[in-house]
Amino acid sequence: MAEQKKMVDDITAMDVDFAKWYTDVIKKAELVDYSSVKGCMIIRPYGYAIWENIQKDLDARFKALGHENVYMPLLIPESLLQREKDHVEGFAPEVAWVTHGGENKLTERLCIRPTSETLFCEHYKDIIHSYRDLPKLYNQWCNVMRWEKTTRPFLRTSEFLWQEGHTMHATEEEAREETLQMLHCYEDFYRDTLAIPAVVGQKTEKEKFAGAQATYTIEPMMHNGVALQGGTSHYFGDGFAKAFDITFTDRDNKLKHPHQTSWGVSTRMIGAIIMTHGDDNGLVLPPKIAPVQVVIVPIAMHKPGVLDKANELLASLRTKYRVKLDDSDNSPGWKFSEYEMKGVPLRLEIGPKDIEKNQCVLVRRDNREKQFVSLDNLDEAIEAALEALHQALYEKAKANLVSKTFTARTHEEFLDIAKNHPGFIRAMWCGCTECEEQLKEETGGVKSRCIPFEEEQVSDVCVCCGKPAKHMVVWGRQY
Ligand SMILES: [Zn+2]
Repeated sequence: MAEQKKMVDDITAMDVDFAKWYTDVIKKAELVDYSSVKGCMIIRPYGYAIWENIQKDLDARFKALGHENVYMPLLIPESLLQREKDHVEGFAPEVAWVTHGGENKLTERLCIRPTSETLFCEHYKDIIHSYRDLPKLYNQWCNVMRWEKTTRPFLRTSEFLWQEGHTMHATEEEAREETLQMLHCYEDFYRDTLAIPAVVGQKTEKEKFAGAQATYTIEPMMHNGVALQGGTSHYFGDGFAKAFDITFTDRDNKLKHPHQTSWGVSTRMIGAIIMTHGDDNGLVLPPKIAPVQVVIVPIAMHKPGVLDKANELLASLRTKYRVKLDDSDNSPGWKFSEYEMKGVPLRLEIGPKDIEKNQCVLVRRDNREKQFVSLDNLDEAIEAALEALHQALYEKAKANLVSKTFTARTHEEFLDIAKNHPGFIRAMWCGCTECEEQLKEETGGVKSRCIPFEEEQVSDVCVCCGKPAKHMVVWGRQY
């Protein structure tokens, strides 16, 4: 018990210092380590296993919708990056450049990809000629680099892992449909796999992606009321296609430019999981992406038959779940807190008395609820417990989102909420970038998250300038 207490004491309590809590958890749960290059992170096996589970789930969703994976080069020639004006202006401040090959200065600088629109376009120019070549539904899993000033593991790093989908379509309608389809694909994934609710909608002109005509976003709220942009989907129109001279001959024999989309999610999602579900004992992982779903902790391990039984359970459960048996000589108390820290959804305890009664103990990570289960019904009990846990995590996160969402009808109300209540603010907006900038300035960082799909006319005038309102916007601070 003393050991167990010590480990938990090592984490800063969430309510005392949320940022410190986050740093403690990612270190103690062995998700990442810092590297010698500022802003780059070492993703340790336990953290990487979470990413692999995320990847596996999303990849299956993308493929079910007809997408194919490709791999593009890491480097982009400067002239290629500059082809689309808005795009290069948007990314220029955070691009890292390769200037030398060995000892020799390159005749043209090469940028390390911050995103790969330009590379895909160059390739699409070569392979798209006819309407028969469309749509092209490509996706890439890779790393990208954006030279960030302030960084935090998972949330904002100079190098990160992601997927970027880039698709080309014969018509605007089809491309717009794809843009929204992929946004909803992310929304489903967040809800059904990560147990994270979110506000979804369209970014304002000011916040949209460099070069896009429309950007859609999924915005979950972290435990402390701060937003995390969880994934974006962009409609590009034919802007890039024109800049890269991509054309195809349509059914009517006319030469046309195809319409383009891109969409991506990254290792930031791991930050969202930690900050949505975690508690003062460490990580709490949604079962579907947990590297270990059930940890078996033998009690009185030295007693005859205990380890044999534990191994027997491991062998039978492993066919269906990701299971670990910890038969190390650490005390059960140490193991309990270790796997709580690591957010393992279920702990299975088995000792001599349980074996006598043909039962074991299941303990849920989220609420520590203890359940005696007959070994004859173990599989069903585990399945039900994991499902209940997923649902409970979702409900808890949803309650947090609802309780920290406020409505502002006047300028004063807006400033008061921004100052005193961490969370999202629903307020009307006239459509002017100036008002967005003013509100951000006055509040020290509250920005428009999106114009949600579910709008409500909470008043008739802009919360900033008092002119007639065009939209309801959800506002909030962000990571
Ligand atoms: Zn206004």
